Amino acid sequence: MKTFFAPSLLTDQGWRSASVISVDADGIIISISQGTAEDCDVGLQGVVIPGMVNLHSHAFQRSLVGKTGLRGKGDDSFWSWRQAMYQQVAQLSPEAIEAVSAYCYMELLKGGYTTVAEFHYLHHQKGGVHYANPAETSMRILAAAETAGISMTLLPVLYSWAGFGQEPLTEKQLPFRHDLNSYMQLLSQLDQYSKHSKLFDWGVAPHSLRAVSESQLLELMEGLAQLDFNGPIHIHIAEQQQEVKDCVDYYGTSPVRWLLDNLPVNERWCLIHATHVDTQELKMMRAANVVAGLCPTTEADLGDGIFPASQWQQLGGAWGIGSDSNLCVNATEELRWLEYGQRLRDQQRNLLATPGQIVGAELYKNALSGGVQALAKPPARGFAIGQRADMLVLNQQHTLLLDKENDQILDAWVFAGVQEMLSQVWVGGRCVVEAGEHINADRIEADWRQLLKS
Ligand SMILES: [Zn+2]
Repeated sequence: MKTFFAPSLLTDQGWRSASVISVDADGIIISISQGTAEDCDVGLQGVVIPGMVNLHSHAFQRSLVGKTGLRGKGDDSFWSWRQAMYQQVAQLSPEAIEAVSAYCYMELLKGGYTTVAEFHYLHHQKGGVHYANPAETSMRILAAAETAGISMTLLPVLYSWAGFGQEPLTEKQLPFRHDLNSYMQLLSQLDQYSKHSKLFDWGVAPHSLRAVSESQLLELMEGLAQLDFNGPIHIHIAEQQQEVKDCVDYYGTSPVRWLLDNLPVNERWCLIHATHVDTQELKMMRAANVVAGLCPTTEADLGDGIFPASQWQQLGGAWGIGSDSNLCVNATEELRWLEYGQRLRDQQRNLLATPGQIVGAELYKNALSGGVQALAKPPARGFAIGQRADMLVLNQQHTLLLDKENDQILDAWVFAGVQEMLSQVWVGGRCVVEAGEHINADRIEADWRQLLKS
């Protein structure tokens, strides 16, 4: 057991001063009580909050940074960006996937995320040729997470078709391909592995309604029920208008309606990019208790559209944030963009706060709660017993934070945050970022630089 002293601590019940957090050998919080720094193994200095959950990431896409800005001859969109992404995929060896993922996870930790849900579809080699170990790239990603010291929920992706009506995959999509059999085998391999790692969990991710057929989805649900699976299920749902239109053409209804009408969707489901939804669909999502998985900077980068987040929040809907393409690896910037998108659309301020609350603090607590739910864990807006001790320490001595406390500090960090405000990052009771530096930075940087050279 290890004990930590926190001068100011954000718990599920609100802020507490002078708190002692006791953590077991697995990094799980076993008690929160009153105390002094002298009573504790570690004296944290500053405002201590839970690390953010990143509910949607494709780590390898960090290697696309700076490579998608060239204006094409026609309209640039999600679909033209996707071609550039496929180009990049073709160049990535398992070593490269591991190196870029470790680098990305290190940056995510420095950006305030302590858990990442990796939506992993890059399963095979060029042409769809399997590696000797079918779980090769999944294992690379887990190794990367371990090197970086980030907690990981791996969501291997079931991806079988290029479009609605079982349209065959293109050559460039073949590395993503799984049929249901091979997919279930991969899940059982990961389940075995998860028993040996305290920072690793897994879930399920049918890619989208266009990439997985109706019969596959129904069989997948049956297979999971037989396994008594109670982990998270994530799906890309309505990112692009074209995709919604294709769904209406094929199924006669929108993706959100089809999903909720045909599958046993519940609070363990996270709908990624429910961007194009109407009020009725929002109400259906709310009734099913799903989490809306929002990726504001990627959705802005790809020109997707703006999710009606303020309307969703008024319905009491849960939401969390993801770094998705990892163009931005900073939790506060993601929250800022989410709020700003709503403001620019509605010409109002503080749209994602309830009356009487401070918007930056509300953004952080709600994203945290929805993020935890998206990992199929009990949602909480701060530390709670039974959770892992994934802690961020905000430096209250920073000049911009000196005259503020608690919710105001969160607000300042969310909207005006600079790296020096985040002094430490702890995952499972272990410090992985100290004074802005990651503990394995030298090795992680060297690995990626080496690959770039070769
Ligand atoms: Zn995605």
